[in-house]
Amino acid sequence: MPQPHLIAANWKMNGLKAQLPVARAIAAGARAHRARVALFPPATLLGDMAAALDGTGIALGGQDCHHADHGAYTGDISAAMLKDAGASMVMLGHSERRHGHLEPCALVARKAQAALRAGLEPIICIGETLDQRSAGLTRQVLLKQLGDSLPDELTGRAFHVSYEPVWAIGTGLVASDEQILEAHALIRAYLSKRFRGGAEPNILYGGSVKPGNARHLMALEGVGGALVGGASLTAEDFLPIIAAAG
Ligand code: PEP
Repeated sequence: MPQPHLIAANWKMNGLKAQLPVARAIAAGARAHRARVALFPPATLLGDMAAALDGTGIALGGQDCHHADHGAYTGDISAAMLKDAGASMVMLGHSERRHGHLEPCALVARKAQAALRAGLEPIICIGETLDQRSAGLTRQVLLKQLGDSLPDELTGRAFHVSYEPVWAIGTGLVASDEQILEAHALIRAYLSKRFRGGAEPNILYGGSVKPGNARHLMALEGVGGALVGGASLTAEDFLPIIAAAG
């Protein structure tokens, strides 16, 4: 039996304690489905959400972590702190970190090493901009991001990669089947050549996944889940996406 899809909710900088019932409703509705579900709330909600979802099987993750284990880094959060607050996963290299905070691949790789030291399962995001795609550089960009953002220490460890074309995030634009199939095949070939042993990584698609397109996207060859932003903020939108994954 193929491994279940991983459906991840990226709440970004959204969510107060008043939204904890949304997480509870997602957990309750997800029970009927086979997909593995992970919520990535703002770090301020991790502790309360861990308590609210205890025993439900929903995984929690941080949206980023620092590359160091501790120290004089005002305002930053270490991987061990995320773990301590109830996270078992962490998302790294999201385009809003790469482009909004100018995070280079080498820093993403150091963060992944920190995540592994803390025992967190990373999801590493990669994706091309519209300019890069228009210039015919997509394959080159994805291979460079894979090569430079994924540290060797991932060998034999649980991790995942999310293909997120930057131009599809939060825009309502969805990559075409052909674009997704090509990117996922490239990523799968790269991962199986470089990382042998350990659980097979899920390769997710992210970029305007909605209840109306999820079933189609999740059935594409090689797509092992979704990273969902806007449509993960309500149970009404997110549960049909979980259901679409099987
Ligand atoms: C994301 O946050 O990674 C994302 C894909 O957002 P959206 O689903 O809103 O496009």
